Amino acid sequence: MDKFDWKRKQMVKYQLRNRGIKDKRVLAAMSKVPRHEFVDSSLRDLAYSDSPLPIGHNQTISQPYIVAYMTEAGEISPSDKVLEIGTGCGYQAAVLGEMAKEVYSMEIIPQLAIKARRTLTRLSYQNIQVKTGDGYQGWAENAPYDAIIVTAAPESIPKPLIEQLAINGKMVIPVGKRDQEIFVLTKTHNGMLSEKTIPVRFVPMRTKSLQ
Ligand code: SAH
Repeated sequence: MDKFDWKRKQMVKYQLRNRGIKDKRVLAAMSKVPRHEFVDSSLRDLAYSDSPLPIGHNQTISQPYIVAYMTEAGEISPSDKVLEIGTGCGYQAAVLGEMAKEVYSMEIIPQLAIKARRTLTRLSYQNIQVKTGDGYQGWAENAPYDAIIVTAAPESIPKPLIEQLAINGKMVIPVGKRDQEIFVLTKTHNGMLSEKTIPVRFVPMRTKSLQ
């Protein structure tokens, strides 16, 4: 076991399991994805610490617990098609790639999208596609999605994303200005069920669309 394998094991035990993450497939995915490969080489030793880290362009890689929390809330199955908004470095996309059939991820900053795509290719993820664009509008061509995980915070829930969610699908999304809360939405035949969960602080969703 190398240094990073050991740190990753500790992360899963102390930051995820001990704080209540139960989904075995989330724990297995996060035990496997080499988080240190998604950050700058100068930050590798901090890759498994209990915090977000900078990835350039004023953006961050999310705290491991938050990635686990949102992925668990998304109830991802092996046959799922998943949309992620806010690729960043691609770490959350990789975790979803371990658990779902297909992952589509959108990033508004072209340089981050290019870098994430390169990292995911280097790590041999073949079921993940990354596209540059405004995630507020979603990615209609591949809809409907069984789950949508949003990792940048809009002030209100984007209508196009609700439209692109499958019936019985889950959307996990931070909503608010500076202080936000993660909402877990379920689409039903009779409309959306909504549950407000934990407080968080994500970067704001940048969009030209009316919010
Ligand atoms: N999912 C990442 C965390 C990303 S941070 C992880 O695995 O760690 C949020 C990202 O959302 C940033 O890279 C930011 O550029 C991007 N973003 C902000 N507004 C966006 C929008 N409208 N569409 C797509 N991406 C957006």
